[in-house]
Amino acid sequence: MFARVIIDRSADREFDYRVPPALVGLVQVGSRVRVPFRERAAALGTVVDLPAESPVPAEKLRPLAGALHNGKPILSTVLITMARWMADYYCCAVETAMRAVLPQVIREAAVNYKKQLHARLLRLPSNDDLATLKKRAPRQAELLEALARNALGEPVAVAPLLTECGATHTTLNALAKAGWLVTAAAAVARDPYEGEQFLASPPQTLSADQAAALLAAREALDAAPGSAGKRPILLHGVTGSGKTEVYLQAIALALERGRTALVLVPEISLTPQTVERFKSRFEPTQHEVAVLHSHLSDGERHDEWHKIRDGRAAVVIGARSAVFAPLTNLGIIVVDEEHENSYKQEEAPRYHGRDIAVLRATLEENCVVLLGSATPSLESFHNAATGKYRLVELPQRIDDRRMPRMRIVDLRTESQRQGRHSAQPIVLSEKLRAAIGDRLEKKEQTILFLNRRGFATSLVCPVCGHVHKCVACSVALTVHRQMNRLVCHLCGHQAALPTRCPECRDPAIRQAGLGTERVEEVVGKVFPKAVVRRMDADAMTKKDAFRETLTAFRTGKIDILVGTQMIAKGLHFPNVTLVGIINADLALHLPDFRAGERTFQLLTQVAGRAGRGETEGEVFVQSFTPFSPSIQFARHHDFAGFWEQESGFRAQCDFPPFLHLALVTLRCPHQERGKFCCETLHRRLRENLPPGVTLGEPAPAPLERLKGHWRFQLLLRARNPLKLSRHLRVVLEKLTLPEDVQVAVDIDPFQLL
Ligand code: ADP
Ligand code: ZN
Repeated sequence: MFARVIIDRSADREFDYRVPPALVGLVQVGSRVRVPFRERAAALGTVVDLPAESPVPAEKLRPLAGALHNGKPILSTVLITMARWMADYYCCAVETAMRAVLPQVIREAAVNYKKQLHARLLRLPSNDDLATLKKRAPRQAELLEALARNALGEPVAVAPLLTECGATHTTLNALAKAGWLVTAAAAVARDPYEGEQFLASPPQTLSADQAAALLAAREALDAAPGSAGKRPILLHGVTGSGKTEVYLQAIALALERGRTALVLVPEISLTPQTVERFKSRFEPTQHEVAVLHSHLSDGERHDEWHKIRDGRAAVVIGARSAVFAPLTNLGIIVVDEEHENSYKQEEAPRYHGRDIAVLRATLEENCVVLLGSATPSLESFHNAATGKYRLVELPQRIDDRRMPRMRIVDLRTESQRQGRHSAQPIVLSEKLRAAIGDRLEKKEQTILFLNRRGFATSLVCPVCGHVHKCVACSVALTVHRQMNRLVCHLCGHQAALPTRCPECRDPAIRQAGLGTERVEEVVGKVFPKAVVRRMDADAMTKKDAFRETLTAFRTGKIDILVGTQMIAKGLHFPNVTLVGIINADLALHLPDFRAGERTFQLLTQVAGRAGRGETEGEVFVQSFTPFSPSIQFARHHDFAGFWEQESGFRAQCDFPPFLHLALVTLRCPHQERGKFCCETLHRRLRENLPPGVTLGEPAPAPLERLKGHWRFQLLLRARNPLKLSRHLRVVLEKLTLPEDVQVAVDIDPFQLL
């Protein structure tokens, strides 16, 4: 018997070992093992195969040294196949892909269940018993009485019991000595939602459109694996159309069929509100919901992971990496807000969570995918247009609520009217200001959106024009008034706020551009009686700040919420009737072919926060380019029009979804060397360029300097993405670059910066 092992943090190869007699039958495909490797006595690895024979002569093979988790297979064959597929597709080492599939705590078996002391009652005290004890030892009597409220023999956690009775371990031990109870340590799961009550929320009666969508999901669930009926469903539903209710009921159908469910949401919308909707639907029906996200402690992650692996959770909700949740018997994967860029991982393996979800569904025995969005990505909509996905639409809001009324404010005429020039940016146009005042009077709430943190986006000297730039990146430093510092939003570099220009020593330094801090300040001054709160990465550093602010907003304690994309998605507050988009142009002018798409999505999503209750919502979009197509299509809630114009542009310029891209970025501390290496790589790629692949010229990246490195890029295109990654792999494996030059390959990149 042999075991083929991928070793952690090793090169892209698999190694064979002998399975010693003690481990035969224990070690399986997917087990984590300890092996001797090179000079190391014990490295960790994953068994990916148990071949009967090995190409290496048996006497040369070393034996496995041991098994983690008692040999229990930690990775299913589906997950191993996914890792191999990712390595091939995204052009990275299998080991790198394996690392994404399995959380670190599980890989290393470094954490275990928390042990907690429990007490079990051995016999029930009578009233006489308690009365007698009360006279002699009142504390003991009280503790015994509290414990007797539980069933005989049932383990009860000691710590909360002692707190409740104000008793100590001495009291407990006395009762144990008298034979009333025994104590023992038991493993318990850490529950991040401990102590929270999830009230049952039964299914709602569906609208006709929702019912049609659910029917599509039902048909897919019952279709034969591999048949056309099993293809992914794209649920295109406007904001507030009740997509979540469709997800919930589709999942219930899967559960009815004895299967499990996985829900992916963008990290940013994994709010308590979202989790609560799933927990309160399923937990009262005895289907546990596990939650996976990046803020779990190692211990919590360990417990949630095993809860899923052991089949104790039937529904998993989580961010991107939850696509690798170790569910068995998976029946449905829901990807909410499938267009969101946070599904794309920006470090190797640079996978896209939505695409991996679709892949996983095809690898599982019998699984369907439901992709949902109010603003589908062009990639997904293209797949629907070509019939690869099935398109289902929810064109109306629930209860025939109207889509919010979109008003565009032309900032050019507004700045003329207010007599300003660009150095002093307009926060509130007159119309938006009037609208906010109106809402304050009516006790309705307002959301103000600006996708930029800080106070001012740059510090400029009006005399010599000097701009304060980051020492390590090619961007201006942002002024943070609360911290009283200059901060680089790319690398985190900080500097003191200068009192005069470092170049010409002039003291008249000007803070240009807008951030959320300044919006908060201006709004506070204009409406001194209103309660204004800010919600962005700076304001939300404390653990519960996010939840607290949302609760305060929901209960009406905040009138105006100012925020970044943190407030753009998924929030549902019926009393919000006004949304102001302070500057719609921010995303529009990035040097990126997706700028138009992103602007359309952002405007639609933010606008979707308005008018979710009885009263119609109103949205003000402030812009210097009010006639740009993305803004105009968003204004008319016209996805079809947007799709038509944008897909025309993409087809014409050979961009996704019509072709796949590979972005190669080289970085180096030395500009000349980086440039030279990029040119060399370009030459090598050009030799033997496979047919159907086109290669762009080497060029400095739009973000030319980042964290002290100079960056250069190459862009490749092809209809077949595997051609890109395979060609790149072959060339890169043969190319030796200086040590300080690093190459990153990004297949299907989201950002070209
Ligand atoms: P979306 O995710 O499409 O933006 P939601 O799923 O958040 O929309 O639904 C918006 C609101 O409508 C929620 O408050 C939800 O409870 C409610 N809702 C959804 N479906 C129904 C229904 N069939 N009947 C009544 N209310 C519904
Ligand atoms: Zn920087």
